[in-house]
Amino acid sequence: MVYVLNKNGVPLMPTKRHGKVRRMLKNGQAKVVRRCPFTIQLLYDTTNYTQPINLGIDAGSKHIGVCATTEKEELYCADVELRKDIVDLISTRRENRRSRRNRKTRYRKARFNNRKKGDGWLAPSIRQKIDCHLQIVENVHKILPITKIIVETASFDIQKIKNPNIQGEEYQQGEQFNFWNVREYVLFRDNHICQCCKGKSKDNILNVHHIESRKTGGDAPNNLITLCETCHSGYHKGTVTLPKTIHRGMTFRDATFMGVMRWAFYNELKKRYVDVSMTYGYITKNTRIKNNLPKEHYVDARCISGNPLAKSLGYYYFEKKIRRHNRQIHKSKILKGGRRKRNHAEYLVKGYRLFDKVSYNGHTYFIFGRRKSGFFDIRNLNGDKVNKGSISCKKIKLIEKAKGYLAEIRKQAMWEYAIPTTA
Ligand SMILES: [Zn+2]
Repeated sequence: MVYVLNKNGVPLMPTKRHGKVRRMLKNGQAKVVRRCPFTIQLLYDTTNYTQPINLGIDAGSKHIGVCATTEKEELYCADVELRKDIVDLISTRRENRRSRRNRKTRYRKARFNNRKKGDGWLAPSIRQKIDCHLQIVENVHKILPITKIIVETASFDIQKIKNPNIQGEEYQQGEQFNFWNVREYVLFRDNHICQCCKGKSKDNILNVHHIESRKTGGDAPNNLITLCETCHSGYHKGTVTLPKTIHRGMTFRDATFMGVMRWAFYNELKKRYVDVSMTYGYITKNTRIKNNLPKEHYVDARCISGNPLAKSLGYYYFEKKIRRHNRQIHKSKILKGGRRKRNHAEYLVKGYRLFDKVSYNGHTYFIFGRRKSGFFDIRNLNGDKVNKGSISCKKIKLIEKAKGYLAEIRKQAMWEYAIPTTA
């Protein structure tokens, strides 16, 4: 898929006509503005014809699934791996500050108790994740004329569980659908742990068991309990007995913690874009299982976008977020002899920076380590080294300068669509 911008940089519908793109680039009717994802800009006036495009975002704390679809086909698909080092870096900074301020220096007024956290303050680890989500949405808007954004804000709808008689369009999808919602809630309430063996069976498959039969007990959360498949089938065969504490009407601790990150992301999106709506995890899960799709972040995003059966691209962009700065303050380990470690790395070594995208033997890699001798450690995003990691910089070619994320193209998991039943 080649993404197309008009003369003023506004995104148009993308194209698959590679021959035409090549011809236009050769004739000087277009120019390349980005290599990954491949984006061109037209250099002549055109009509701005677009179709409705939905952008589905599977927000998460470790991975983000991104998928832009029209009713018929998938236009963009990505899996983004987020940074995990924020908590660590912040606590190093805190340690450094503490020790600096405890040193005996001139008298300075205590400053720790006179500052207020601003409105909407979030922990830096969460702030960073939200900013990252917003950046990704913005990047997609730069290459595609997105008309609607859909995000998953929570895995279940707590309002609907508290008040099953709630009215509204999205609430009229039948009893079975309601059970999917309660099911997600019960799994969350029980911490995704089997309440019979407490995880001892090491069975990862979890079922939600009706304590009293569905007919007499119903689908209320206090009639449902999380069991692993081993215990669940054992119970129905009569080989496993449930603990006495599990009975209909038992009281549970309230599931109070709700992910703050996804809601904050949703609210910020609503401030920035016109058409933003939300969905729940149980709906996504239901769509994915009903259509026999594999469990991948980008597939969840495609279900969230509302077009689960759109024609697949066959590939997706795998992106890994990285740290842009390398501050000396973070290298504060004191070496033997009381000397602080120097920040050795130079800005450029033989013209290359850390994380530059390069080609070697026809494959693309990233620079993970540089030596002054000109021998570099180059790897792909799985972390596989090339040739035990020593490649002369004369044998590599720069493809793209380092950015805030590393991106490569990967093959999508294969699947067959479920055959629609005519019942
Ligand atoms: Zn169990």
